[in-house]
Amino acid sequence: EDLDKGLEKSSTSFLSKLTKAVAGKSKVDDDVLDNLEEILVSSDVGVNTTLKIIQRIEARVSNDKYLGTDELNKILREEIAGLLSETNSGEASEFEVPKDKKPYVIMVVGVNGVGKTTTIGKLANQFKKSGYSVVLGAGDTFRAAAIDQLQIWADRVGVPIIRQQMGSDPASVAFDTLQSAVAQNADVVIIDTAGRLHNKVGLMNELTKIKRVMEKVISDAPHDVMLVLDGSTGQNAFEQAKQFTAATEVTCLAVTKLDGTAKGGVVIGISDQFQIPVKYIGVGEGINDLQVFNKYEFVDSFFK
Ligand code: GDP
Repeated sequence: EDLDKGLEKSSTSFLSKLTKAVAGKSKVDDDVLDNLEEILVSSDVGVNTTLKIIQRIEARVSNDKYLGTDELNKILREEIAGLLSETNSGEASEFEVPKDKKPYVIMVVGVNGVGKTTTIGKLANQFKKSGYSVVLGAGDTFRAAAIDQLQIWADRVGVPIIRQQMGSDPASVAFDTLQSAVAQNADVVIIDTAGRLHNKVGLMNELTKIKRVMEKVISDAPHDVMLVLDGSTGQNAFEQAKQFTAATEVTCLAVTKLDGTAKGGVVIGISDQFQIPVKYIGVGEGINDLQVFNKYEFVDSFFK
């Protein structure tokens, strides 16, 4: 319901814009397609993905010769669901911890302010509620506030946190965290990292070093690298995805702040352009405001 609440605002505008775009037209023609292109771009779907969608609709128009505007909504939904299906297989339900990974290690990356700490806290809570033991690692050692914030979440959720002083080596924190998790026989480890986008090489070196050190404790860790993006930042989110995917192998995404004025189109564009599945969406500041991404629900909300 939270997703509906948030996206309704945006999708009302998406739908109302779409309705306006076809007003007085019974047939999907070049005018309608031009308007549609504008709407998709202004909904943060991104230029490349927008063009892909437009091309697919053009192909259907030329196949059918006549495509009524009354069908456009349905066809758009199909195309968007199709795009999301390329990277988001199946219907998401509860998140499962792989049985053969113990502890299962998630490294979380993203720039400051996107909701990284909050997402880690919410995620730790979900795992704990599902019966898993969780250890957090405060790897963002460049900001004292980041360590303190994560500590607050660890206390709130009731899970242990491994931290060092501000300014210490993030890789060393990651190493300690994994060792501690192994010693405690923990199920899940979530490691925070610094969100500095100083430059590409700097970011790459930092994340590579953390991974290398983790491998000393658990040879195939981290098992997932989750990039957190703020869904309300449009073009910035695309830019961040570009930089982080160039710096490290991102395996999944969490898109936050979809409860606000975010248009949600970021989810469609980023999962398509970077071919990375969206695992979670953030729909509020509260501890329970994290949902496993369900592409069907998402498309429904987007078009509501
Ligand atoms: P970090 O710097 O990336 O660790 O960001 P934080 O986790 O500290 O979050 C930054 C701000 O965004 C905080 O005020 C959070 O409460 C807020 N925030 C995080 N996720 C969401 C979300 O899904 N929805 C909303 N509305 N706010 C969020």
